[in-house]
Amino acid sequence: MNLTDARLLRQQAYIDGQWLDADSGDTFDVTNPANGDTVATVARVGKAETQRAIEAANNALPAWRDMTAKARSLILKRWFALMQEHKEDLARILSAEQGKPLAESRGEVDYGASFIEWFAEEGKRIYGDVIPNDKPDRRLVVIKQPVGVVAAITPWNFPIAMITRKAGPALAAGCTMVLKPASETPLSALALAELAERAGVPAGVFNVVAGRAGDIGTELTHSETIRKLSFTGSTEIGRQLMEECAGTIKKVSMELGGNAPFIVFDDADLDAAVDGAIASKFRNSGQTCVCTNRILVHDAVYDAFSEKLVAAVNALKVAPAEEDGAQQGPLINQKAVEKVQAHIDNAVQHGASVLCGGKPHALGGSFFEPTVLGDVTPDMDVASEETFGPLAPLFRFTTEQQAIDMANDTPFGLAAYVYTQNIGRCWRMGEALEYGMVGINEGIISTEVAPFGGIKASGVGREGSHYGIEDYLEVKYLCMGIK
Ligand code: ADP
Repeated sequence: MNLTDARLLRQQAYIDGQWLDADSGDTFDVTNPANGDTVATVARVGKAETQRAIEAANNALPAWRDMTAKARSLILKRWFALMQEHKEDLARILSAEQGKPLAESRGEVDYGASFIEWFAEEGKRIYGDVIPNDKPDRRLVVIKQPVGVVAAITPWNFPIAMITRKAGPALAAGCTMVLKPASETPLSALALAELAERAGVPAGVFNVVAGRAGDIGTELTHSETIRKLSFTGSTEIGRQLMEECAGTIKKVSMELGGNAPFIVFDDADLDAAVDGAIASKFRNSGQTCVCTNRILVHDAVYDAFSEKLVAAVNALKVAPAEEDGAQQGPLINQKAVEKVQAHIDNAVQHGASVLCGGKPHALGGSFFEPTVLGDVTPDMDVASEETFGPLAPLFRFTTEQQAIDMANDTPFGLAAYVYTQNIGRCWRMGEALEYGMVGINEGIISTEVAPFGGIKASGVGREGSHYGIEDYLEVKYLCMGIK
């Protein structure tokens, strides 16, 4: 890989400020999904190394917690600045292991860094409360303290941003962290650790262990030392980890799967709706948890909308990450390709029509044609399961209530999108949709300044914004007698 600073390509675990091989000497390969080439070979650590990382984080906790918020903030700001300075290298590492177009990777570095910057500031504004006393001879005060050692388990779809939006608030609040990144994309995590070290994050405050998910996960979830687990990934694994965390009554933050509806009313600006649908459906080749999964279109504008959407989808450039103008990279692996194909096949068997795409791309590997399906109905698999790929299924509706019912007919509740020019309807839909986030005439809604998170089976807790730091704080009540 062509990097300006080759030391960012780290391949060992980062524990207590040391770069270490696995005790066993085991390694695993990280491959480029665009061509299957081996990008790097990373230390595969296990239970013993994870235990040492937990101990290191615990040992580092008192000094980090007791620093002033401003002192922590200055270190985090240096980390932010280093991410910006090394943006191009970070983007190259990210694209090589994840496959997304370089332009998207650069965007993710900016987005990821923004959480470090935001929480560097927010950490200085963790205020307590003075409660008017209930009795004359005592005073009631609330202080907020870091929860302690935190474990983070992150996915491959945003190898940088899913880490920083946990590490940012955790470290700013005075917590220390053990991170297990996805095995598909450990290199971005290790590069972040390298920059954290250069920024002056003390040894033990931020540790990275990559390896077998089950081995590392079990140590993290069963540890008495770890007080909180923050997880982003599938609902299935999230549920399992919550169960594992029950034994030690850990706090949990869970960012899980979604099944986002994208609703286009007959009074919508159709061009804006198409732009929003492309952005929200096809970003990262459809591999984000807030990606549109179902497009619900009012019958009166169904034909006009589908025509415009198909034209826009056909214009998307499918290409390897480094190619100029690339908009759609490969999917993460063959399993992802099979899932998209299965959803298409199931829908077509039940009467849907392929309006464009529909099969693996001529580029080969895990590239897939951006696809639009027409006349999709709620009985098809794609209506109830998250595709996590470049497949846009079009459903019809006729009334507002029907759109609400269809949109809410899922166990998930992460993001929803509505396009309408009617102000009353904007409010009614905003309130009626059972989701943690609603984009109203907007297809890209994530930002570090707003709360990201879901309800129902989509998760617990919020990331980003001033709400995001609360997940890393305990509320303590001090009752003081003054007799
Ligand atoms: P995805 O389908 O997006 O890969 P997963 O939920 O399988 O989502 O993975 C998200 C993260 O959870 C990854 O870091 C993965 O390695 C990790 N993971 C998967 N299974 C387990 C497990 N049993 N224990 C702990 N972590 C796990």
